[in-house]
Amino acid sequence: MSLAIALLTQDLRLHDNPVLRAACAAADEVVPLFVLDPGIAAAGFAAPNRAAFLADCLTDLDASLRPLGGRLVLRRGPAAPATARLAAELHAASVHVAAGVSAFAQRREQALRAEFGERLHVHDGSLTAVVPGAVTPAGKDHYAVFTPYFRAWSQAPRRTVHRPPKALRTPDGIASEPVPAAEPQSPALPPGGERAGRRLWRRYPLDRYADLHDDLAADATSRLSPYLHFGCLSAAALVAEALRHGGEGAEAFVRQLAWRDFHHQVLAARPGAAHHAYRDRGDHWLPEDDEECAAWRAGRTGFPLVDAGMRQLAHEGWMHNRARLVTASFLTKTLYRDWRIGARHFLRLLVDGDLANNQLNWQWVAGTGTDTRPNRVLNPLAQADRLDPDGAYVRRWVPELAHVPGRAVHRPWLLDEHPAGYPEPLVDPAALSARLRAARALD
Ligand SMILES: Cc1cc2nc3c(=O)[nH]c(=O)nc-3n(C[C@H](O)[C@H](O)[C@H](O)COP(=O)(O)OP(=O)(O)OC[C@H]3O[C@@H](n4cnc5c(N)ncnc54)[C@H](O)[C@@H]3O)c2cc1C
Repeated sequence: MSLAIALLTQDLRLHDNPVLRAACAAADEVVPLFVLDPGIAAAGFAAPNRAAFLADCLTDLDASLRPLGGRLVLRRGPAAPATARLAAELHAASVHVAAGVSAFAQRREQALRAEFGERLHVHDGSLTAVVPGAVTPAGKDHYAVFTPYFRAWSQAPRRTVHRPPKALRTPDGIASEPVPAAEPQSPALPPGGERAGRRLWRRYPLDRYADLHDDLAADATSRLSPYLHFGCLSAAALVAEALRHGGEGAEAFVRQLAWRDFHHQVLAARPGAAHHAYRDRGDHWLPEDDEECAAWRAGRTGFPLVDAGMRQLAHEGWMHNRARLVTASFLTKTLYRDWRIGARHFLRLLVDGDLANNQLNWQWVAGTGTDTRPNRVLNPLAQADRLDPDGAYVRRWVPELAHVPGRAVHRPWLLDEHPAGYPEPLVDPAALSARLRAARALD
């Protein structure tokens, strides 16, 4: 009898899981293993919303494995020694894991390699639709601009999407930790797990995506991001299914999944971009001022669209992409504060909080990343008129303004009477670019 360990990380699913599939092909018995690594908590990554979602994912995966003859084994500790202990207990012949893109994942892989040598098998293509590094511009190790990346990405060969295993034998009697209990911070968190993610995807009206994905009040994006972050859904499978479905909605959706791959290939090549400017613009950000940054975090800037986004984040642990862009631009460009302040706050709350997508989107907005127009400022008033023309999104999230009809809700300072309890604007609405322009000497 041979035994393989499938060390699962951000691939908590049965469908289209290259790691699980390879482990099943390699041995008679398979131990699907998840290690609760204190390094993740130490890096600030075990935020309550994601910890709660993760607990759902682990419970769900175990429940899906059991009818197949398997189960999920949980261990605690740094991943490499914890896996090595289990491998020694069970005389495992091989260990399988997905290739990751962060510095943490790369260090974990090195530590596993040191423990297992040739017995370690690292599988590409688990986390993204196109493997980071599979398409590169001539002479470079990654694409720094999305449009040419997307062209190359669209032509890249795609791997076959795998079915879930039909059966999987995990030996009895292996000690396992319980799934850790976790209280979410946000009251309206979605349920985690592969089955919840697949249900959402099956019911998602993809055809509406092209027309409605920028409409804040319509709330018509897929909300699949946390399921993609934890790998409850496979990006490769979503791309394949969307392309099969066809049409404008599917094409626009696939483009967003390519953005996800784009950021992953940047981070894989430049892991330091999670914490340092990808392109240094010589910024000397204003200090982390209590009043302004606190107002931004609390959704009390006096700019209704910004405040609506920040309050949605607190309540749901999720924010619409367009609101993420506006709130991030407001912090970095209008208040001229370091993108890392905002990225940290988002990571504390986002259920889809993801090092590649969060840090590199923040850098994109701050102009220190891959945006080819680094000094653009998203004006929250113009954005509000375009993305929330009737003001319904703002009224949903800012109760102090719920009585203000139509788009007047976006400029409460113009109303005859300022709405009770709602703050005055933090900065002059006519000078939203002033600090950035002065700091980057743009005039
Ligand atoms: C400042 C800022 C921070 C962000 N932080 C994160 C984060 O931590 N985690 C995260 O998954 N996304 C992040 N995004 C990207 C994007 O906002 C979310 O992926 C999207 O809002 C999730 O909602 P959805 O699943 O309904 O997206 P949909 O519009 O339905 O898109 C489908 C999928 O495509 C991917 N995607 C969509 N837009 C982007 C994008 N701009 N960049 C990368 N991938 C994208 C996501 O995986 C998403 O689930 C951030 C964007 C900004 C501007």
